[in-house]
Amino acid sequence: MKSIAIDGPAGAGKSTLARRIAGELGYIYVDTGALYRTVALYLLRQHIDAADTDKVEAALPGIRVDIRFEEGLQQVYLNGENVSGQIRTPEVSMMASASSALPAVRRFLLEQQRELARTHDVVMDGRDIGTVVLPQANVKIFLTASAEERARRRYEELMEKGQEVTFQDVLRDMKQRDAQDESRAVAPLKPAEDAIRVDTTGDTLEQSVARMTGIIRQRLA
Ligand code: C5P
Repeated sequence: MKSIAIDGPAGAGKSTLARRIAGELGYIYVDTGALYRTVALYLLRQHIDAADTDKVEAALPGIRVDIRFEEGLQQVYLNGENVSGQIRTPEVSMMASASSALPAVRRFLLEQQRELARTHDVVMDGRDIGTVVLPQANVKIFLTASAEERARRRYEELMEKGQEVTFQDVLRDMKQRDAQDESRAVAPLKPAEDAIRVDTTGDTLEQSVARMTGIIRQRLA
């Protein structure tokens, strides 16, 4: 099985690029952030604070997260309910960032991610795919862009979905989430030593797709 690991901060374009590249290569695209978001949604629904680590740990056995691919698109299920449409809110983003810092939560989702890569050719995106989940990935990319550009992209995405947010809120949340993701003790956001760094600031989507596909095809050859 082949695997491509794409890591980087929020809004760097990981999911859009990973999906396109998976389509071109005929691999499946696995969005691991959706797994952390699904756990976060459960905790929010149960009114469990991420700082209350005992409660979070006690809640984990009651959570079943399933990934299914429907018409090539990843859908995520929480205890049998398709929650794919409910995990993209700013509230869930912040909770995912807070709860994903807990070792118990990361352990809970680790094997599931590895199993997907054992059974499929994958393009997997996240924060620790190249460093922790798939250290043997065939190609590792660390994707970045300036914080302002990443916030602008995320802001436009949220506006399209009709969510009421300001650009300043999105930028502030993004910086806070990056800081949390980078500073956590377990599996922090950082490039693997053998990752190729790609900065997409100023690129159009098509330019980024072309650059990434070029790099990946060269490495896979
Ligand atoms: O990628 P996305 O923004 O959907 O991820 C939501 C949050 O989940 C991130 O801010 C990060 O804290 C966490 N995450 C993680 N490891 C991953 C994927 C996501 O810690 N592999």
